[in-house]
Amino acid sequence: MKDRYDVIVVGAGPGGSIAAKNAAEKGLDVLLIEKRQQIGDPVRCAEGVGKLTLAAHIKPDRRWISADVKGSRIYSPDGTMVEMNEVMSGDEVGYVLEHKLFDRALAQEAAKAGAEVQVKTRATGLIMEDGFVKGVHIMQHGEMFDVRSSIVIGADGVESKVGRWAGIDTTLKPNDIETCAQFLVIDETIDSDYCKFYLGSETAPAGYIWVFPKGNHMANVGIGILGSQSGDKTRAITLLQAFIAKNMPNSKVIEMVVGGVPVAGPIKQSTTNGLMLVGDAAWQSDPLTGGGIINAMDAGKIAAEVAYEAIQKGDVSEKGLANYEKRWRKTIGKEIGMSLRVKNKFIKLSNDDLNSLAHSLDGVNIDEMNVFKLLYMLFKNNQKLMWDFKDMFADMVFNSS
Ligand code: FAD
Repeated sequence: MKDRYDVIVVGAGPGGSIAAKNAAEKGLDVLLIEKRQQIGDPVRCAEGVGKLTLAAHIKPDRRWISADVKGSRIYSPDGTMVEMNEVMSGDEVGYVLEHKLFDRALAQEAAKAGAEVQVKTRATGLIMEDGFVKGVHIMQHGEMFDVRSSIVIGADGVESKVGRWAGIDTTLKPNDIETCAQFLVIDETIDSDYCKFYLGSETAPAGYIWVFPKGNHMANVGIGILGSQSGDKTRAITLLQAFIAKNMPNSKVIEMVVGGVPVAGPIKQSTTNGLMLVGDAAWQSDPLTGGGIINAMDAGKIAAEVAYEAIQKGDVSEKGLANYEKRWRKTIGKEIGMSLRVKNKFIKLSNDDLNSLAHSLDGVNIDEMNVFKLLYMLFKNNQKLMWDFKDMFADMVFNSS
């Protein structure tokens, strides 16, 4: 490790590795640090990603793809199933990754592009001078180092400290975080063609249960519920165990993870002098689905491009980095803002409401629709229920015309 770089990226998740790769490709001198000794392990993810959105960042490789699915099946509380192809299903359905290998492949890409990658290397604080972030205090193998940089990119995930160290409020309230638990299970009944989602207040209050196939009769079976819904009788893990006991009684659990996803919608501030936050550290995951891999990668790329521009211009102040705020808010921010509105409505839907929405799509070939037509169909058949969405619906009509 040198004592100075153009950019230090904290955290080698999808957001950090893509930021490091893109910054290095632009010719910047980049250090990527990861506190764990093995990048990507343990996996705290259901590993679902959309194919098209992923291909914008990296060429798909069989070595880190566990399953290639046809689409999704969503089950309402009374068991009514709505099926969608992968394009309609959004950014979390297409491939189910082997995340450990995927995260490692992204870090390798960063290294190949010229970034220096250091594992078992933890950021413990920021070097702050004259109101600017000037580098990172780093602990490696029990020793402390100060490493300086023009820009720090904080990609340290949902438990991010980098933002807080720089004075950005990244505190999440219980209503702003999805509490997740997930088992990797083996079961003969697993359908390898579809990612499945189960809704209902008894199944997953203000959330859902997922079954994402991994091939060889394995699947990630997990649950995400709003932190505010978690109580003695509604702990995520207890609900998940009940679901598995009922629906997959002969399954065997071979791995378990717990974790959280920010579902608060766009954060107020993601830059300050010398610093940008990306991915879960900047609450860029989708508030409705909890998916954040693609958004983290998209944001990482934007942050790298803005870092390059700012360093070229010699202005790494908050103003010099304003293009990062502008660009991600126009794309990712707009989408997660819309998802937040849908989520706020979704969490208030009763089981009867969910059943009614599912029934209204019975016999409809959703695969031949785009999101606009799907919303229109839902709106037409459930006017009272969908009334709160009328503004959003109008926005979509406006934007698509
Ligand atoms: P992370 O992937 O969290 O990476 C942050 C990295 O920073 C970690 O490697 C961490 O060790 C490192 N780090 C933290 N602090 C420091 C430090 N001080 N110094 C050095 N390194 C540090 N998203 C999807 O798109 N599809 C899914 O199917 C999906 N399923 C999910 C299921 C569960 C149970 C959970 C919890 C999340 C799921 N997500 C899913 C969300 C997705 O995992 C995250 O949105 C995504 O990983 C965010 O990427 P990131 O790079 O911002 O952060």
